[in-house]
Amino acid sequence: MKKLEVLFTEEQIAQRVREIAQDINDYIGNDEAVIIANLKGAIPFYADVFRCLTGKVRMDFIETQSYVNNASSGHVKITRDLSENVEGKKIVIIEDILDTGLTFEHILKHIKHFHNPKELKICVLLNKEENREVVIKADWIGFEIPNHYVVGYGLDDEQYLRNLPYIGYWV
Ligand code: 5GP
Repeated sequence: MKKLEVLFTEEQIAQRVREIAQDINDYIGNDEAVIIANLKGAIPFYADVFRCLTGKVRMDFIETQSYVNNASSGHVKITRDLSENVEGKKIVIIEDILDTGLTFEHILKHIKHFHNPKELKICVLLNKEENREVVIKADWIGFEIPNHYVVGYGLDDEQYLRNLPYIGYWV
């Protein structure tokens, strides 16, 4: 029978969230910034980081569709666009996981082309470097992970298990 092995505990995640939020605070400084989550998987990470931010920040969301039945379809579609005006502003995009990088590549092109921010930074909770198909470097990475399909803390298994407070993988 399948068993869920814990990869990162709630405490490990909370500790890393505080460290990353501190780095983002240092980056924002006295400027204004828009913090963007890629829905839906980034939401728990986004909410935890956002609560640790101390500067002048606004929230916004983008939604993409890229995976069909736990496999990369290779096609990425923006299903919800930003609603805030980010032109000339610092933005930080928060994502749950960088895998092939195809989703992020599409988001970056879209935001640069249609929204013209002053600066764009990337923050991901998990990085699966092994699977990368395009060149994308995140500015802040929570944890490097091997090539497992991970679930919990926003990451789904066919839309379930996003509510787990920890991150695990099936063994
Ligand atoms: P990429 O386009 O970089 O291959 O994939 C990015 C998206 O695929 C993530 O936002 C996430 O929704 C999904 N994804 C990639 N790897 C995993 C994984 O290990 N677990 C889950 N639940 N989703 C993943």
